[in-house]
This record gives sequence, structure tokens and C-alpha cells, in this order.
Amino acid sequence: MKSYRDELLFNIPARRGFVNITHLVEDCLKKSGIQEGIVLVNAMHITASVFINDDESGLHQDYEKWLEKLAPHDPTSQYLHNRTGEDNGDAHLKRQIMGREVVVAITNGQLDFGTWEQIFYGEFDGRRKKRVLVKIIGE
Ligand code: ZN
Repeated sequence: MKSYRDELLFNIPARRGFVNITHLVEDCLKKSGIQEGIVLVNAMHITASVFINDDESGLHQDYEKWLEKLAPHDPTSQYLHNRTGEDNGDAHLKRQIMGREVVVAITNGQLDFGTWEQIFYGEFDGRRKKRVLVKIIGE
């Protein structure tokens, strides 16, 4: 069995944002040389997500609206977490619902997606460096 590990680096210039990282994961898969196996992609921070859905701009705006309804950033005083002096209580909750990681099957050296599936990085407390782990196992 072969294994491959890599980290993707992000520094989103705004507090929140969504980035299609499918091509970056495909680059890792090519470098790994693995033809059959599994890839795990996970955010290495508790205020960012990795998730799979459609690459459609309306959908990303809908996520933004929906997440702000569920866990509005303001007023920051509404979150007990922010009593630590932070202002990212909402970002922890947004990360929780959008998820930590995805796992995708690898078949014939390709990501074996369902219809319209793409991999996204979701940032909820940006303007600083963040990492995403890519771990591929197989043969
Ligand atoms: Zn925090």
C-alpha cells in the first residue's frame, strides 16, 4: 500500500469565503501516483471546513445567508466563547455544521465523484494562514 501526505495553504482576505479546491486535490492525487484507494481532505483548524457540493455561485450565497441566520457574527457578545477575548464564536458553530472533512474514492487514478460534486474549503474566520490536510492511501 502507498500513502501520500500534503498540506494546502490558504489565507482568505475576508472573514468568510468558499474556495473550490478540487483541482488542488487532483494535483495531490497525480503526485501520489495512486490509482485505487481513498483520499481524506480535512481542515486543520476549528473555524474552517472542507465539504462537497455543487460549484454554483447562488448556492454559495445561500450558504452565507443560511449560516448567518443560524450563527450571526454580530453581536459578538452573544457567544460565551467570545468571553475569552476572541470574536469567532460564530465561526466555530459554522465550521461544525459545514463539517471538518471529506473522503472521496479514487478509481482509475481519478476522484470518483457523484454528479456535480466538487470539493470546497469553507473559511469562517479568515485573514490569517490556514492549512488543509490531504492524505491519500491506496495502490
Ligand atoms: Zn475561537
